[in-house]
Amino acid sequence: MPTNRSRSLLVLLLLCACGGGSSGDLPTVPPPSSALGPDERAAILVAAMTLDEKLQLIHGTGEILGARPLGAAGHVPGIPRMGFPSLHLVDGSVGVGNDVGESTALPSAMASAATWDLDLAYRYGVVIGKDMRAHGVNVHLGGNVNLAGREPRNGRAFETKGEDPILAGRINAAHLRGTQDQNVVACIKHLALNDQETGREMMNAVIDERAARETDLLAFEIGIKDADVQAVMAGYNLVEGAWCSENASLLGGVLKQDWGFRGFVVSDWFGTHSCAAAAMAGLDMEMPGSTQFGGMKAALEAGQVTQARLDDMVHRIVRAVIAVGLYDHPAVPGVVHTSANLAVAQAVAEQGTVLLKNSGDLPLPPGLGSIAVIGPHADIGVISGGGSADVTPIGGSALVERSDFVGFWFPVRWLPSSPLSAIRARAPGATVRFHDGSSATEAARLAATSDVAIVFATQWSTESLDRSTLGLTDLVHRAAPLDQEELIRAVSAANAHTIVVLEGPGAQSMPWLSSVGAVLAAWYPGQRGAEAIAGILFGDVNPSGKLPITFPASDSDLPRPTIAGGTTPFDVRYDEGSRTGYRWFDAQGIEPLFPFGFGLSYTTFSVTNAAVSLTGGSQLSVGVDLANTGSRAGAEVVQVYVSMPASLGEPPRRLVGWKKVQLAAGATERVTISVDGDSSAHPFGHWDVATRSWSIAPGDYDVHVGTSSRSTNLAGTVRF
Ligand code: BGC
Repeated sequence: MPTNRSRSLLVLLLLCACGGGSSGDLPTVPPPSSALGPDERAAILVAAMTLDEKLQLIHGTGEILGARPLGAAGHVPGIPRMGFPSLHLVDGSVGVGNDVGESTALPSAMASAATWDLDLAYRYGVVIGKDMRAHGVNVHLGGNVNLAGREPRNGRAFETKGEDPILAGRINAAHLRGTQDQNVVACIKHLALNDQETGREMMNAVIDERAARETDLLAFEIGIKDADVQAVMAGYNLVEGAWCSENASLLGGVLKQDWGFRGFVVSDWFGTHSCAAAAMAGLDMEMPGSTQFGGMKAALEAGQVTQARLDDMVHRIVRAVIAVGLYDHPAVPGVVHTSANLAVAQAVAEQGTVLLKNSGDLPLPPGLGSIAVIGPHADIGVISGGGSADVTPIGGSALVERSDFVGFWFPVRWLPSSPLSAIRARAPGATVRFHDGSSATEAARLAATSDVAIVFATQWSTESLDRSTLGLTDLVHRAAPLDQEELIRAVSAANAHTIVVLEGPGAQSMPWLSSVGAVLAAWYPGQRGAEAIAGILFGDVNPSGKLPITFPASDSDLPRPTIAGGTTPFDVRYDEGSRTGYRWFDAQGIEPLFPFGFGLSYTTFSVTNAAVSLTGGSQLSVGVDLANTGSRAGAEVVQVYVSMPASLGEPPRRLVGWKKVQLAAGATERVTISVDGDSSAHPFGHWDVATRSWSIAPGDYDVHVGTSSRSTNLAGTVRF
């Protein structure tokens, strides 16, 4: 805890660095005692504020993205006489973005989810929080937990944590805690059902209440309750006919009343449509400017917004800053913790990469004479995702291309982690040659004269634009047309030992799958991605990632084979209800290309002797013997799924718990997975529309345990 003197010094520094609002001749307000709770301290500050000071806190200062101190996306001037810091709201979901400068470019959030490792996810959030403080910015807009299963072609799928509400909710909560523990505010977004980018400002999500509560809203509920996250961003879209930023049942009802959220709700950028209606519905801060909330004084005078509501808006913002420790520990520009952060980036890439197919080509055998490395820019870098989640990596980019779709200027960024160099470093005795893939014929010729061919197939994707297909034929972002499916076919026809490394946002269809020897899903692997991939290719690292999203065989297997759009409000009907992601494929009896939870290893595991018990009325315990039956150390993710009583009409099964376990070759361990039925995840619950509450129906619940959603055995049945 800093002394008063050092605290005032910090405040002074912060004001110099960030610029505060003008307080005129008003008296200084001493910091309320830190012995008081955040609500009491916030109340003291809010009571001392003038109306103008209050109005200053409820919106940003930038109508255009240029006017941003420190390069963050949003700015709210502070109140120097109260030691209240200027707020700098910064993106990205996979690191610290906007124009703040170089930061750790982490693997995508989807890659983090694919680790199924909550401790590592926490460290992911810590990296973001530390980088933020090093840049002097203090509100992070990264916790995108829209579920990727409703529209897996969603251009922002890489920012999400996959398709399952409990896995996504918990991974996201771990990120948010890790970030907020660095004394900055974290934000969960975009509430709610902002599940596609096509027409995102006009899309009206139509879904029944129970389905929404059990899926998309559940992921938010977990983040809000488990991470005590202090900011929520309202989506651009409409839900059941009302814009999210003025949706009273969503903001005032579900979020603030039902979940007890005490932080503040910020609009998405330019996503506020009204002043009084939005404020009274529950929006607390408009971003990036004051187009609507600039009218707050008039709305107060006209009685459209009450003074109590304005005070509540301000209280929530001030309280959030105090609650996370930012008020007591202002973020002052400093040093980015480069090596520690890069180590986390590499660990996430190593743990999150999923081995999807292996006919025996991996790990690469020692003594290879020649290796062909094929794919766009695989000589210099790995690709990253675009839009507001774009991060300028430490050390600078390998290459920045321009996206070429109409009206947008987003960069296509290649991170400085070269697959070619990483492979050369790992195979000093081999001849490693490169082709950029621009000619399938030439690439195939190189492959034909190499012992193995490794194709790095890349799929850029971004905010504002959905992919047109789950295939690699989507060309919209490419500087030059490149059919990578044709490339893979040509290379694999020339070399029976072809390995495909996919760098992409999420689910991928693979009509070429049968022709290749091995496939790795490396997601967007971040700025230590190539080193992680090389470690896996050569067997230094045994892959242990598991899919956090179903890979469908084709777009036609999705609930909506085509994506609806519009420039005036249009409906997207989520008639599949709770049957999203794997639950859809299970309910419809559709065979996915690779199921949710799937991932291979260089060793093998067995799961036996399952025992199930229910204690204390709602605590499920599942025990199994997990044995590493192969000849290498490795990690397995033991997954527990539950089938609800048939009368409830729920999808066939839902994930309720898991544990990732590292085992030496030949070792066996008794693994126990505990599932708390009273937790924020409501693992055995269904939403009762009549009572508007969660309920556990009496009946038999089948418990399945295994190593993917499609590879389980019945472990037992418990009765509630
Ligand atoms: C995105 C948000 C982002 C904001 C600020 C919007 O376009 O939807 O996720 O936080 O911009 O950059």
